[in-house]
Amino acid sequence: MQIQSPCVSIEQSNQLAIIKLANAPVNALSKAMRVGILDALEQANNEPSVEAVLITSELSLFSAGADISEFSGPNLEPMLPQVLNKIESNSKPVIAVVNGNAFGGGLELVLACHYRVSFKGNKVGLPEVHLGILPGAGGTQRLPRLIDAKSALDMIVTGAPTPVVKLEGVFDEIVDKASQLNEAGVALAKRAISSGPKPVSAVALEANENTLAVFEAYSEQVSAKSKGFFAPLKCVEAVRAAYELPFEEGLRKEAELFMECMKTPQARAQQHFFFAERAASHVAGLSKDLGTRDIKKVGIIGAGTMGGGIAMNFANAGIPVTMLELKQEALDKGLALIRRNYENSAKKGKLTQEQVEQRMALLQGATDYSALGDVDLVIEAVFEKMSVKKEVFSALDKACKPGAILATNTSTLDIDEIAKATSRPEDVIGLHFFSPANVMKLLEIVRADKTSDEVIKTSMKLAKTIRKVGVLVGVCFGFVGNRMIEVYGREANRLMLEGATPEQIDRVIMGLGMPMGPFTMGDMAGLDIGYFVRQSRKSFIEHDPSYCIVADELVEAGRVGLKAGKGVYLYEQGSRKPIPDPAVMEIAQRKAKELGITQREISDQEILERCIYPLINEGANILQEGIAQRASDIDVIYVYGYGFPVFKGGPMQYADETGLAHVLARLEHYQTTLGEYGQHWFSPSPMLKNLVAEGKSFSSLN
Ligand code: NAD
Repeated sequence: MQIQSPCVSIEQSNQLAIIKLANAPVNALSKAMRVGILDALEQANNEPSVEAVLITSELSLFSAGADISEFSGPNLEPMLPQVLNKIESNSKPVIAVVNGNAFGGGLELVLACHYRVSFKGNKVGLPEVHLGILPGAGGTQRLPRLIDAKSALDMIVTGAPTPVVKLEGVFDEIVDKASQLNEAGVALAKRAISSGPKPVSAVALEANENTLAVFEAYSEQVSAKSKGFFAPLKCVEAVRAAYELPFEEGLRKEAELFMECMKTPQARAQQHFFFAERAASHVAGLSKDLGTRDIKKVGIIGAGTMGGGIAMNFANAGIPVTMLELKQEALDKGLALIRRNYENSAKKGKLTQEQVEQRMALLQGATDYSALGDVDLVIEAVFEKMSVKKEVFSALDKACKPGAILATNTSTLDIDEIAKATSRPEDVIGLHFFSPANVMKLLEIVRADKTSDEVIKTSMKLAKTIRKVGVLVGVCFGFVGNRMIEVYGREANRLMLEGATPEQIDRVIMGLGMPMGPFTMGDMAGLDIGYFVRQSRKSFIEHDPSYCIVADELVEAGRVGLKAGKGVYLYEQGSRKPIPDPAVMEIAQRKAKELGITQREISDQEILERCIYPLINEGANILQEGIAQRASDIDVIYVYGYGFPVFKGGPMQYADETGLAHVLARLEHYQTTLGEYGQHWFSPSPMLKNLVAEGKSFSSLN
């Protein structure tokens, strides 16, 4: 037997035909694979001495599923559902030997086989929901025929990988080790020859009161939990169809629901984001031959809020850390806080006490720079003041070995300037973590003027080691994330001055799908942080006397946010629930009067446009200046760093979906209607104007 496909092979062993999938790197079920599988199956059927067919993979994983690059093009026959229906209706039994992860279409292929065998450590799943769709090749109809409704719903609605050991209904046999699979596959095939094909579609499912109650309860739960997403409820509907309709009709229903999902902005956004995340890990212009430096030991300067969180990332990854403070007391305090964090995780059952001790044992304290002689990387997280940063970097330059990477976690300061305090600016880089640093996935990797490619490549790799999403950005005030959020915060504050209440503004922003509005976020982060930044950037106020003027007064009155029990909102002791305070609007009214601003009723639409469109405009400026490599990187930063809803794909995707011409028109509208303020702050980015003139989108730049 011989087939033409470069990615599927077939061989015969006695009465068995063995089809092997070999489409590196992930056995994506592309058109070539689908054709190859059908060809191989036909050959096995045409060979009289073959009595059963095994399907397995030549790679270490079985298959990661559909080739999602095909989603945007025309249908390429044969489509996966057709291929799987052919497998299921094959007259010779087909056995899936699942030698590695089977996800999405990969698992649907497994479910279409008559018998299935895998091994204990393996995981499988149906993650389509993360792409805004549902399993569209029979997964929603076959899986519930093998496991109970609730388990099938859990797998399909959450998209989470599931250990094979939890799927005894799916697998006829689960062996201890992958090495036993070949033998087990052959034995299962021999049994299959005597019992014949056993199609999953033949299993009868019946809806009764109990199952209906499961679906009702599940739909309710999903509606509450996945606000803004379209696919999760459709997944429930599809699984329900497996119970309520005959198999063929169920498949048709699944196809219908799949197409419905595919056409939504959510699916476009989630698929955009899938590619965005992958693109973000690539740095243009880095030589493939370039090596990376080993990071086996890390130093952290400053054991405060950020230093402590950053240290935990490394301890979690098994990398030893030396933390440096000038005073023993500050060091003890920092280390004690880290221990408390770990102990809390242990209380919640996320870590064992042994793991807490293992991690703590990786953390050492020091008050002298001589302790940093052998570290491969240092991350500075001291006060946000240039003179302090320079002192630290000059000391690091003297203390650290040649080749050590010297990183700063500064949020706003000029890293080129910091690098000048050393004799090795090529080793200096920004590693900008987000707070809480042990939780937030985003890491802005800031390339300074002289940072070497090797240091950049090492940092991008390091992000993966500590399970962060690293995105390369350039030096400017606030880099990408904070530079854009500044614009949004400014506008929210100005809207309050013009008459919108903080509650209205927060509600509108949450309506977009953000986890919280700008004022709740400000209170949580601490209003003093922005205040201190503003103090060092008087240029904002020179151009705009209204700039965050209410927030300034609040901070000066000690209302610094949640930690003080009062900020823009009030907080009851021990509660994080914001309580509106009329006194804040009184300040806004007084300040508005002083500045000659007439307060008015402001529509939700205006709030949304004025907070989000200037942020997008700033994103366009960032692209124009080359501070971000691509528009989709900005989306990754916003989803992981600021909770921008993934079902909108990030601000730049949201702008594309809204229409750039519309965004531009609204910016121009506010530029002219908001007087001097509008003239100053609403000037459209030349990049945005050009894209609109050429009828292009941000995604066309990627
Ligand atoms: P923090 O005040 O909580 O901690 C700073 C620590 O540095 C303190 O423990 C202090 O004792 C120590 N320190 C000060 N000068 C020192 C020196 N010369 N040598 C050694 N230790 C010294 O501040 P933080 O919030 O952790 O911020 C640290 C840095 O991280 C700043 O640059 C800040 O802009 C940046 N950052 C903060 C956040 C945030 O949300 N807090 C987010 C991202 C980045």
